[in-house]
Amino acid sequence: MIDYNSLLNPVARDIKPSGIRKFFGIAATRKDCISLGVGEPDFSTPTIFSQAGIKSICLGKTHYTANAGLFELRDTISKYTKQFIGVDYSPEDEILITVGASEGLDAAFRAICAPDDEILIPEPCFVCYSPLVSLCGAVPVPIECRIENEFKLTPEQLEEKITPKTKGILLAYPNNPTGAVMEEEDLKKLVPIIEKNNLIVFSDEIYGELVYNGLKFTSIASIGNMRERTIVVSGFSKYFAMTGWRLGYVCAPREIIDVIHKIHQYSVMCASTVAQYTALEALNTSFKNGFKEVHEMMEVYDTRRKYILKRLQDIGLDCFEPRGAFYVFPSVKSTGMDGEEFAYALLDAKNVAVVPGGAFGESGKDFIRISYAYSLDVIEKAFDLIEEFVKELKK
Ligand code: PLP
Repeated sequence: MIDYNSLLNPVARDIKPSGIRKFFGIAATRKDCISLGVGEPDFSTPTIFSQAGIKSICLGKTHYTANAGLFELRDTISKYTKQFIGVDYSPEDEILITVGASEGLDAAFRAICAPDDEILIPEPCFVCYSPLVSLCGAVPVPIECRIENEFKLTPEQLEEKITPKTKGILLAYPNNPTGAVMEEEDLKKLVPIIEKNNLIVFSDEIYGELVYNGLKFTSIASIGNMRERTIVVSGFSKYFAMTGWRLGYVCAPREIIDVIHKIHQYSVMCASTVAQYTALEALNTSFKNGFKEVHEMMEVYDTRRKYILKRLQDIGLDCFEPRGAFYVFPSVKSTGMDGEEFAYALLDAKNVAVVPGGAFGESGKDFIRISYAYSLDVIEKAFDLIEEFVKELKK
């Protein structure tokens, strides 16, 4: 009998499985369960984009591309990034196409993190950052962001966690799971601390397009000299509804991209060629038609967001108004339960699945994450059941 325990890399072996997957593994076994749990658009990729991918296959464009990705795509991303976040990146050597933002984050952490380096991770946050940092032998240091501060990171919190070992900080706004956004003035307060302590910023901007109430997204890379110490990670999954194509990108100064390029070359060679042609069409079409497809999806998300906020208010669950992404993050404290107890009890009683907020870090434990990447019909049905459930609890 092989003792696998002693053979496996202890860091990889001991990583906790994603709290989202754990919960949805249970929900998936239940018949007719209504889920508001998944973090991916319910829209299909707009047909006009997909057709470009199909055409590329028919034309035999089925070979590897350059490791960094198709030059035309990098060139278009460069134009897009300049227009959208106001930062210039050279398509030659400052942009790299990755397998989703996921691979971009992994390669970025591996390019920067040496053993024992500390990386600050404001929580609640998406589930991949801490495990990826740990896999580098570095140390993820959580910072608990609070509802009182609208789940934003404050300069005081940042300063308090910095030690001589701190190498970098992850910023992910608009945020999954809270929907929080750090605006320009919020980010500006962090900049002097980041610069004084010579930190690298990993800026996960995958939800950058998805902001509401006329808000303007600001990338920290666009503030002062921050471009030189920021790694922007983004991708096509969310705003072009292209999750399954697995396409993302990283923008950073060439010295950093050089190293990320080597990691990417040895681990994946290049991103999917078909997906790259699809993304190229998505950007080119969007430039021509003023991002029509994206704006149409945004309007639908916004209607759902407002509907959910109203329902939560009527039910009596406190909720901070999310201003980005496609999640709401209500507190369930008033029910006497924490997020995990609430999510399991709701699943048991009403067959509705939401994600316990603790899956995203300790400061999320009194909350649940509800995704509105579902049709209004599904959302309405789920909320009728959540309303019944909360009423029964209060009896
Ligand atoms: N970053 C955040 C904040 C996410 O929520 C997700 C996916 O849910 C990702 C990155 C990964 O995106 P991709 O599909 O591009 O790998």
